[in-house]
Amino acid sequence: MEKRLLIQQVNMNGRIGTLIIEKGRVAKFDSSEVAPGLEDSVWNARGMLLLPAFRDAHVHLDKAFPPDRWISRTPVSSILDQFQLEKELLASCKNRRKELAVRTLEAMLAAGTVEARVHVDIDPDIGLSHLELMLQLKEDFASRMAIELVAFPQQGLLRSQSTPYIREALRMGADLVGGVDPAGVDRHVELSLHTMFELAAEFDKRIDLHLHDPGHLGVYTIEKMLEYSAEAGMKGKVTVSHAYGLGEVDTGLVAELGSRMAGEEMDLATSVPIDTAMPPVPLLAKQGVKVSLATDHTGLDAWTPYGHPDILRRGRLLAEKQVWNDDLRMASVFQWMSNGSLELKAGDTADFVLVHALNAPHALAALPRRQLVCKAGLPVAGALWQGKSNDNAWNNIPERSESPDEYDSLFGDYR
Ligand SMILES: [Zn+2]
Repeated sequence: MEKRLLIQQVNMNGRIGTLIIEKGRVAKFDSSEVAPGLEDSVWNARGMLLLPAFRDAHVHLDKAFPPDRWISRTPVSSILDQFQLEKELLASCKNRRKELAVRTLEAMLAAGTVEARVHVDIDPDIGLSHLELMLQLKEDFASRMAIELVAFPQQGLLRSQSTPYIREALRMGADLVGGVDPAGVDRHVELSLHTMFELAAEFDKRIDLHLHDPGHLGVYTIEKMLEYSAEAGMKGKVTVSHAYGLGEVDTGLVAELGSRMAGEEMDLATSVPIDTAMPPVPLLAKQGVKVSLATDHTGLDAWTPYGHPDILRRGRLLAEKQVWNDDLRMASVFQWMSNGSLELKAGDTADFVLVHALNAPHALAALPRRQLVCKAGLPVAGALWQGKSNDNAWNNIPERSESPDEYDSLFGDYR
């Protein structure tokens, strides 16, 4: 018989039982007592809550400042000035880029993120140097986190004449074509989008566009993206990130655009910004748009001092902004951070997080430390993780010994 992993006394969405894992996938969740076979590995979660592991739909690993340096921000008058400021500030951290990216990945993992879409800066100045590093990290972290790389012309695809560099990035292995503000930055919506879709077609890649353009300019850009997507047969392969404009126009228009986005399977990534309008997530989700939450900023960077690598914290921010106090709506936030469910079913990859919390709303409110983060049934991070991610790793992980009233949380340090 195939060797199995039995995780006993797991709280799966309110039911206590044994999670049985075979070959990295969930074989079964059994509420009755399961007798382990001689070959089976057994670990007791002692009532810890299981949450499906998290996906960060939009993050940068090449923008964080060193945590030991405070870089003062000064007000800027336009997004183009912001681009320039960031470029100058980042140049001063050049020698620490790998260390900072690794630190960010470890922090994301410790927070329960096992899948991430990473946008990588590319322009004629820095060339493909960031991409080379990220391709290496993607490989180094492959057993712990599934990383997708977006070739991202931060300074504008047309504006910075980055098209040949993006083409080379796709040849080198970037997974998606990126872009930014076809109107506000590139000053030519059609040509900018056309270039992105051409590049995607040439290399059979997907698209993920940063869209900060406001109001109807943003709406117009999304309409054009829908047209191009349909023409190019790219249904289900196009993402719009941010889409602030959807938070600034009439809700009737958003609902209509949302149903068109759902029809074309164009998904939306939002970082739940605090300094600008944001798309109305509940309305878009109701229209059938696949929404994903994203950190975007993981620490101190040129854009914000308020970044954080914890996607659960973004979920909490969304619930706070929406003023969702009831269990049902608080629990609904998890669908935008993971595979869409609060439970793992037979056949699912065993990607999950164990925390000391009573249920999903409690976890969202308290932001408990992630005790164990598992990918394909193997521990890959978390407070109990012992630094090993192989078949024997479970033998070395201490089982929780204290009584379950010890709930650590965001406020745990202050009690
Ligand atoms: Zn971004």
